[in-house]
Order: sequence, then structure tokens, then C-alpha cells
Amino acid sequence: MIPVNEPLLQGNERKYLLQCLDTGWISSEGPFIRQFEEGFAARMGRAHGVAVSNGSVALDAAVAALGIGPGDEVILPSFTIISCAAAVVRAGATPVLVDCDPHTFNMGADAVAARITGRTKAVMVVHLYGLPVDMDPLMDLAARHGLKVIEDAAEVHGQTYKGRPCGSFGDISTFSFYANKNITTGEGGMMVMDDPALARRCQSLRNLCFKPEQRFIHDELGWNLRMTNLQAALGVAQLEQLDALVARRRRMGRRYDALLAGTPGIQMPLAHTDTAENVYWVYPLVLEDSVPLDAKGVMKALGERGIGTRPFFWPMHEQPVFHKMGLFQGERHPVAERIARRGFYLPSGLALTDAQIDTCAATLKEILHDACR
Ligand SMILES: *Cc1c(COP(=O)(O)O)cnc(C)c1O
Repeated sequence: MIPVNEPLLQGNERKYLLQCLDTGWISSEGPFIRQFEEGFAARMGRAHGVAVSNGSVALDAAVAALGIGPGDEVILPSFTIISCAAAVVRAGATPVLVDCDPHTFNMGADAVAARITGRTKAVMVVHLYGLPVDMDPLMDLAARHGLKVIEDAAEVHGQTYKGRPCGSFGDISTFSFYANKNITTGEGGMMVMDDPALARRCQSLRNLCFKPEQRFIHDELGWNLRMTNLQAALGVAQLEQLDALVARRRRMGRRYDALLAGTPGIQMPLAHTDTAENVYWVYPLVLEDSVPLDAKGVMKALGERGIGTRPFFWPMHEQPVFHKMGLFQGERHPVAERIARRGFYLPSGLALTDAQIDTCAATLKEILHDACR
């Protein structure tokens, strides 16, 4: 079986992990946490980094830290992971959805502008599958309306927009270091920001809102979102390799591009936009209407031939959990609906070999050829 994702851990990961074991520093109090936070924030062009246990809780904490709550609306894409909308809903605020572009899969400023109301407090920008959102018009829009920006950069470590790092745009920008991300700590996340007061607020929310003066007396409820020193040790080692790992993803993407170019029935990922080269966080394909199978059918055929795949995200406005809460009923976001049904991604982990890429591409072509006959 060619797995859909396998990470590559070939730098100083082992060495730094052994340092944790040898020194006994395994909790969040260990020295790799600070080192990872400072190194990662600097690499993203930010003043502060606050490491947390995953990318989903980074969004929860970002929403809370920006004071978003009941009565507030947050605009975000329908086509994304549930963590984004869940963070808004859990804060008691109202998620307001926009559709996405059929080729970049990203939200755009015009759609956001159309949904701004007097209650809009923030926009949650999500860069998807390796290409950045067109940030300039969105940042202008946010500035004009006094909106906070939360930037979910979980899929774009090392990516840039017009030469500026993804993760450098939000009032708070968040990352995930799950095992399939561009760099990984197994499980893990980070919030980055420039405002020192916001950094302190995020640190406090991460650590149960313990008070520095009187530890066990609390003015507010926080969470335990702490990352371990073991995870941060992996993070420091992975960060050292960020450029190399991003270059490797780009090479893998270009190899798929070359092998699949001209294949009837599939929409390939964009190799670049006006503002960025794709980092190919995953290798996403959308089946054209001429293919009589949907994504499920093609993924099943690939699975039967030993190739792991994942479907695209399922749109937030089609989630039963939100319908039960009375959210998004009757809403339509046709691009998100279509790509959710027609889209999937091929094995894209950093440990994938050229030979495996060749096998995946050849097998997909055979399946499409047979299906379209
Ligand atoms: C992976 C991901 C997350 C969540 O990160 P976890 O660490 O898995 O909780 C959030 N947003 C996006 C866009 C992601 O891809």
C-alpha cells in the first residue's frame, strides 16, 4: 500500500529527542519550547510565537484572544476543515460562510465583502492545499471595515504571498504541525503575532489562565493547550529543514504535474498563481464532469490497487452538526459543493519516492482511461 502520507524525519529529530530523554525535560517547561517558538516566529516574520498542542486549538485560542464572542460574526470559507467553523461556534459567535475559487480552492475578497454586516468582527482567512489566498484585497477590506484577521496557515509553512511569508498577515496567524503538514511535531500547533499583549493573552489562555502573582486564583477560564518539549524538539529539528522540505514538496508536485499533464478528465492543481508558486501541501485533483465516476469511485479503485487517497473537505454548510444547531440551512456554495464531490488527493507525504509517484500517476491514468471508455 502506498500511504497517503508518511513524514520524513531525517534531520536532528532523533538527536534532540534523545536530549529530552537524557535531561528529563519532557513537559512544556523544557527548553525546546522557547527555541521552537522563537525560531518559528522569526522564520514567519513575526515577533512572537505561542506553541500549542495542535492547529485546531490554536484557532480556538486565537478566536478567544481576539475577544470574539456572542453577537459577533466571523466570515470564513465553507470549504475548509471543521476546526475553523468550530472555533467560531464554540466561542458563541456566528460563522458566516463564503464560497471558494474552483482552481485555487481559496476564498476571495469579493465574496467576503458581500457578507460584511454591522456585526462582522473578524475574517478567518484559510490558505488551502498549498496556494496562498490573494491577501492584499482582503487585508484592505479588513482595514476599511476595522475587522480582525485570523490567518490559518496550517497548510502553507514556508509558502509566501508576493514574497511575504504566509503566517505574517493575521492579527494572529495559526499553524498545525500534524504529521501530514509541511513540517511536523506529530501533533502540535503554533499561534504567531506581533502584539506583545496579544502574545501574553495567548500564553495565558494556553495555560489555564494561571495568574503570575497568584497561581491558583483565576479571573478567567483558559485551557491546557500546552505543547510538550518532546514535540518542540521535533519542531526545532524540522524547522532547520523547512526550506529543503518545501523544495521537496515542490519537486514532488512538479513530478505529478509532468506525469499527469494532458490526462483527460482531471483538473490539475495550479503550478502557480500571480503571487506564489504552489507548495503542493497535497496533490489535489478534481474530476471533470466527463468522468462517469465521482471522487469516491476513483478513490475506491485506487485503494483496490494499493494507493491511499483522501477526499477533499466537506463544506461547512453541508455539515449535519451545524444543521442541528440551526446554522447554514438552505445555504448554497456551489463551488465547494462540487469540489467536495469531485475532488480528492493523491499520496503526497514527504517520504514518498519518485517510483511511488510514478506508480500513483500511471494507476490513476489507467483507472480514468477505463472509466471513460
Ligand atoms: C490541519 C489543519 C488544521 C488543524 O490542525 P490539527 O493540528 O490537525 O488540529 C486547521 N486548519 C487547516 C487548514 C488544516 O489543514
